[in-house]
Amino acid sequence: MKDILNFIDGAYCEGSIGRWFDDIDPCTGQAHARISEAGSDDVNRAVSAARNALSGPWSQMPQAARSAMIRAVAEEIDNRFNAFLEAEVADTGKPHSLASVVDIPRGAANFRIFADIIANLSEHAFPMDTPDGGRALNYTSRRPKGVVAVISPWNLPLLLMTWKVAPALACGNAVVAKPSEETPATCALLGDVMNSVGIPPGVFNVVHGFGPGSAGEALTKHPGVDAITFTGETRTGEAIMKAAAAGTRDISSELGGKNAALVFADCDIDAAVEGTVRSTFTNCGQVCLCTERVYVERPIFNAFVDRLKAEAEKLHPGAPTDAKTGIGPLISAEHRDKVTGYFERARAAGATVVTGGDVPVIDGDLANGFWVRPTIWTGLAEDSPLVKEEIFGPVCHIAPFDSEEEALHLANDTDYGLAATLWTRDLSRTHRIAPRLEAGIVWVNTWNLRDLRTPFGGSKQSGIGREGGAYSLEFYSELSNICIKM
Ligand code: NAD
Repeated sequence: MKDILNFIDGAYCEGSIGRWFDDIDPCTGQAHARISEAGSDDVNRAVSAARNALSGPWSQMPQAARSAMIRAVAEEIDNRFNAFLEAEVADTGKPHSLASVVDIPRGAANFRIFADIIANLSEHAFPMDTPDGGRALNYTSRRPKGVVAVISPWNLPLLLMTWKVAPALACGNAVVAKPSEETPATCALLGDVMNSVGIPPGVFNVVHGFGPGSAGEALTKHPGVDAITFTGETRTGEAIMKAAAAGTRDISSELGGKNAALVFADCDIDAAVEGTVRSTFTNCGQVCLCTERVYVERPIFNAFVDRLKAEAEKLHPGAPTDAKTGIGPLISAEHRDKVTGYFERARAAGATVVTGGDVPVIDGDLANGFWVRPTIWTGLAEDSPLVKEEIFGPVCHIAPFDSEEEALHLANDTDYGLAATLWTRDLSRTHRIAPRLEAGIVWVNTWNLRDLRTPFGGSKQSGIGREGGAYSLEFYSELSNICIKM
């Protein structure tokens, strides 16, 4: 069994508290590695290493040189593609067909895009008249924020970690990363990548462990951390905001969702069914952007439900390496029990189970994996907790609507505001509805398509701030105005 170690000041190390925990393969329920937990002394050491690195050559490095180094990280991830793929799949159980085209390439792409952005950075200038009849020139200038703590979840481990590490480093910060305790393997591999491309020791550090009472809490409460960027559950985001309040540290948070799809009768139904299958069941429903509420205009409601059911039933669970595998497992036994708890609550609430709502029986090595069947419900009340709470599994509730206004009301009637999807061929309707959807991202006739230069984030309880492309610079750098009297 492999050991997964912390990475501090350029070297892999065991945590000083001598505690280890298992890294479980969700396909088998068996440990595939053990993880060394970081204690508060280790977190102190990681934060000190990061602070020291800031006074070294790293933050003074010319932008072009830093950009070249960030680009080299992307190339090195490409070079080690198979090692990253193997680690990600062992931690998450997701099919190779998904991880090899989404998670690992995007992990590298995140470094590439921020290498480009920092290389092409421009500043603003504001020449002005002065009261004495002279002139002055104002210009903006960015400097690193300092030590940035990056805390990430388990659903897209490499993708979401690099989505924050890359802009943080591109802006000249030093990072202490805390990956999810469920999926630390790819983040651990990044340490060696950083060393191999010459990122100075201390610029990138990794501490492993849990949230409360462990590395996560120690890191977010550490006064040596200047800013915290977090992706995860809304309730965790609240706890981290409280920690960030001490010392008024900046925070960026990407949180939960309860995303709606609106399917109008004039849509291309083939595309809408295919897109909704993806938006509901991709990664076993464990994507913050997944659709859990589908509203369909009444004339096509029955046909849409039948077709979605038929497609959902084609998604067979199986081994990640099997090309026929259509859906992987949930991340853990605990999460499987949470999702199956919703199955029971849906039945008790009188839902019609269109398909799924149970656990498939699988023999052999996969018998103890955390599998659930893709599940579709109809007939729940709009105020049911199943329609309000983020379930984060391969589930959706489908309900009919009769008018645009009703559809908009249903989509927006949620505490969350991350993503929404619209299926229609009517361009005027698209322009009427899309800007009124209370979501950080609205897809029309597609799902999960992203240009990495665009802003990303949530409204309401789905998060604070926008990251992505040059928008990330707002969080990862400190902007000053310099005013020169001429
Ligand atoms: P989580 O909130 O349980 O954990 C996320 C990370 O926070 C983990 O590394 C965990 O160890 C750490 N953590 C937990 N409590 C902490 C504390 N008190 N202090 C410091 N760190 C703490 O989330 P999860 O279960 O890993 O991920 C699933 C959630 O993430 C879902 O709600 C999903 O919607 C959300 N998510 C959001 C986005 C987005 O972009 N908006 C993307 C992916 C996932």
